[in-house]
Amino acid sequence: MSIIKRLTTELEKPREQRALGTGWLSGGGALLAGLTGLSLVLALKLPGTFVTPDLMPIHETGYLRPFLHVVLLIGYGLALLSLLLSKDKVLGGTALALVVVASLLGGSQTSVSDANPTSLYFGLDFFILNVLFVGFLFVPLERFFPHRADQGVFRPEWQEDMFYYLISSMLVQVLTFLTMAPSNFVTSAIDLSAIQNQVMALPFVVQVMIIMVVTDFAQYWFHRAFHQVPWLWKFHAVHHSAKSMDWLAGARMHIIEIALLRGVTALPMFTLGFDPAAIQVYILIVYFYSSLVHANLRWDLKAVEKFLVTPRFHHWHHGKEKEAIDVNFAIHFPLYDRLFGTHHMPEGKWPEAYGVGGDPVPLGYWQQFVYPFRKSD
Ligand SMILES: [Zn+2]
Ligand SMILES: [Zn+2]
Repeated sequence: MSIIKRLTTELEKPREQRALGTGWLSGGGALLAGLTGLSLVLALKLPGTFVTPDLMPIHETGYLRPFLHVVLLIGYGLALLSLLLSKDKVLGGTALALVVVASLLGGSQTSVSDANPTSLYFGLDFFILNVLFVGFLFVPLERFFPHRADQGVFRPEWQEDMFYYLISSMLVQVLTFLTMAPSNFVTSAIDLSAIQNQVMALPFVVQVMIIMVVTDFAQYWFHRAFHQVPWLWKFHAVHHSAKSMDWLAGARMHIIEIALLRGVTALPMFTLGFDPAAIQVYILIVYFYSSLVHANLRWDLKAVEKFLVTPRFHHWHHGKEKEAIDVNFAIHFPLYDRLFGTHHMPEGKWPEAYGVGGDPVPLGYWQQFVYPFRKSD
């Protein structure tokens, strides 16, 4: 059995075998620390390749090296603990190997090499920070307040969704370029300075609110088109093929849909003269919001569900049953679905199952990548 296969079997083993003292938790933690440490060492070694320029300020704060040092130490400790406790040594062994390789490569003393001043970088640091921040927030929340209590972190197909997370974080530069293209075209073709001056004069919070309202309107129709135009649906069906809902599930989206969606929502954002800081805040909100609405959380959030999209609202969008087809397209404001007749929120009910009827979408990132281009049979 390949090492990857052994690792996933070990991570996915039944809950009874994962109790404290079995070495599972320490092994998983060690593996996370090992992967984080090794990725950070690579990011430090090859800043031109793996580091996102927008994150340079974080690298320059000087906290990254001490952080890396602590991560590697924790990795060592947990890996040894797991090796002592567990019967199958694959988690602890792999984690230890990763930590050792990271340390041999220089650990937290890694010197920055500028031998590779390439202009194309991969956002490895972006992926790590992303998964760490979002994961550390949602994994405990989903554990304490689960909608489906039998669903663990390593539920079926989790590796696929993690791979989606990795790919879209790594392609952040390419995606940003594609996203900006339509906006750059519009600003060079039309003089919008009259509107831009008025927008710039608005208070910061109002700007963020307007960005949300405007992008969600664009997103609503984009999303609805991807459901109703058959060849567009084949791209979007990939997102709907997820059979489990949690913070990771939202990452599953065809790369072409991501590029088009961002291009469409960026258009009002970057042409109307919003404060770049307001745009940054909005992007941060969207990151957490999209994890939240997919999360395996049982919160009904009754007080806000009339005004804001909640997990139950978006879970209905992913429902497999008939009543859930083509409803709840909004991402922030359910008002759009009320206005355009697609609102569906049966009192206190959640969908029975998630996914696409008939399961037409194949498994695996690359199979899903080519799926929309294949002739349907
Ligand atoms: Zn959809
Ligand atoms: Zn979704």
